[in-house]
Amino acid sequence: MVRPEAAVRVGVLALQGDVREHLAALADVGAEPVPVRRPAELAAVEALVLPGGESTTIEKLARAFELWEPLRRRIAAGMPVFGSCAGLILLADQVADAAPGQTTLGGLDITVRRNAFGRQVDSFEADLPVAGLDGGPLRAVFIRAPWVEEVGPQVEVLARIPDGRYAGRIVAVRQGAILATAFHPEITADRRLHAAFVSTVIGQVAASR
Ligand code: GLN
Repeated sequence: MVRPEAAVRVGVLALQGDVREHLAALADVGAEPVPVRRPAELAAVEALVLPGGESTTIEKLARAFELWEPLRRRIAAGMPVFGSCAGLILLADQVADAAPGQTTLGGLDITVRRNAFGRQVDSFEADLPVAGLDGGPLRAVFIRAPWVEEVGPQVEVLARIPDGRYAGRIVAVRQGAILATAFHPEITADRRLHAAFVSTVIGQVAASR
C-alpha cells in the first residue's frame, strides 16, 4: 500500500532494538522512514516510533546522545508516537517493576508492568482482536513483554489477551496521537497497525498545515 501523496517523515529511534523492522514496516505503508540518533534528526520528523528492545538501555543511550529531553518535549507537545514493547514502557507515565533508577519519557497515562508475563512464557504468540482494525485478529508476538496494569480516563484500550492464564490483560492502548503495544507488530508481515499509525500522522499533519 504505497501512497505517494502521504510521504510523512516518520522517525524510528535508532539507538537499540528492532529498528530495521520498523523502518521497513513504515516504508511498506507509504511513509518516509528516518532513523533518528541525533536531536537534528528528531527535529526533522513529524512522528516517531520507539522500537522494541530494552527500555533501560534505550534510556541510557538516549541520555548519552542528548536525545532524552528533546524526546520528552516533542512527546509532551503532541508529536504522534508509536511504541512497541520497550517503546510502550518508555511512553508510560508509571512503571511497576522498573529497574533501579529507571525513568520514562511519559505521555501515556498508564502504569505498565515490565517483564509481566513471567519466565515460563517469556515469549509467546496470540491472535488478538484489536479495536479499530478490520480484517480479523492480529497475530501478536510477545517477547519478555510488559502489560498495561492501569489506565487513566483518556486512554483507550485497543486489545486484551483474549484467553488463557492472562486473559483480560491489556496489551494495546491509544491516547490521542500515541499508540503503544506490548507486542511487536514490526516483526510480522501484518502492517495494519503501522498503517493505522501513519494515517493518524497524516491526519495530524494535515490539520496543522
Ligand atoms: N523487557 C524489555 C524492557 O524492559 C522489553 C522487551 C521487548 O521490547 N521485547 O525494555
